[in-house]
Amino acid sequence: MPANRICPVCGGNLEGRPGTVDFQYKGGPVRFCGMTCLRVFQQFPEIYSPQGVGDVPALTLEDSSA
Ligand SMILES: [Zn+2]
Repeated sequence: MPANRICPVCGGNLEGRPGTVDFQYKGGPVRFCGMTCLRVFQQFPEIYSPQGVGDVPALTLEDSSA
């Protein structure tokens, strides 16, 4: 399987879609539906990484002003 079939950023179907972009992330190719989604991914790779889809850790806001 060369790449994912679903854009990890927007969830769009990539099969047969023109203008997709492949990006190497952690040694493997990740496919996006376009540069817009790739740029979003590059800003928040930990959130949108395919391995992390559906397993996004909850944000923990701790008051460190003590
Ligand atoms: Zn997308």
